[in-house]
Amino acid sequence: METEQILERLCAEGAPSGFEGPAVRAAKELLEPLMDEVWTDRLGNLIGVRRCGKPEAKKLLLDAHLDEVGLIVTGIKDGFLRFTANGVDSRMLPDREVMVLTDPPLLGVVACLPPHVLSAEEREKAPELKDLFVDVGLSQEEAERRIPVGTPMTYRAAFTRLGERQVCAKALDDRACYAALLRAAELLQGRELDVDLYVLGSVCEEVSGVGAKVAAQAVAPDFCVAVDVTFGRTPDSPKDESLVMGGGPVVGIGPNITRWMSRQLLEKAEAESIPVQKEVMEHSSGTNAWPMQIANEGIATAVLSIPLKYMHTPVEVVELSDIEETARLLAAFVVDLGKEGAQ
Ligand SMILES: [Zn+2]
Repeated sequence: METEQILERLCAEGAPSGFEGPAVRAAKELLEPLMDEVWTDRLGNLIGVRRCGKPEAKKLLLDAHLDEVGLIVTGIKDGFLRFTANGVDSRMLPDREVMVLTDPPLLGVVACLPPHVLSAEEREKAPELKDLFVDVGLSQEEAERRIPVGTPMTYRAAFTRLGERQVCAKALDDRACYAALLRAAELLQGRELDVDLYVLGSVCEEVSGVGAKVAAQAVAPDFCVAVDVTFGRTPDSPKDESLVMGGGPVVGIGPNITRWMSRQLLEKAEAESIPVQKEVMEHSSGTNAWPMQIANEGIATAVLSIPLKYMHTPVEVVELSDIEETARLLAAFVVDLGKEGAQ
């Protein structure tokens, strides 16, 4: 399957943190043909392994999270849903379409007042979450019957091309990276490996990173790579805090990252003529690398990122070549890993 079709399949699922089932099921179907064994753990993480068949082989874990940002219903007033948000900025919400994840799901729109009735002062400022509600077109009684408090909601968004090389959708954070993991596993098919390769689709990254923490604890890898998105450049973004779209994968450098791993990723990129960018992460990388680095007695950890524009909105954008080059770099990294014996 083409990367674009894989992305479309994965992004179609509404799977906010703690409600990842639909994305996990879609990812499982795509992962199974590439692995020896695939399972879900108690937290709902999706884990696959391809064993190399060599005695006492070391283990490499590649991670991308399957959860997405979302909203949760906290109450109903006159048929309109009150909600709280996770990872979503209230500035982004008025007039958005959302999916209320009941069975079957319901369409909702975030209510907003027309400009005509707003005072000059109101027009100036962003609404607060507590003043927003979702309109599902139901009466109070119907809404109470069909939508229990605690029901999750996600953005509703189309999956489209933006120009020739970019795609626009919700949940590309982090399913673009999960697609890169699938593509890397595909590139490695038929190649001899010296490590057991674990592919993790983790839950709950957007809230705590507990999914990756538990999986890293259970798998106990020797090395891990957190693959996540980073800030893609736009005319208004600070140049020193954003990365070039189409500039290739981004290798993280900093205390959350084991130095020989970032060095090896950069060397592999050079050897394979893969365009690559660097991002200095002076503290936590803000990814699953943070909890994974300290699992068990500590794990050698790297962070590889894909530039993405408009993070945590329904119009997230990635460049397809960045996904492909990330997959190529991961595959090149895996091929020689474990041969050294020393690490
Ligand atoms: Zn992410």
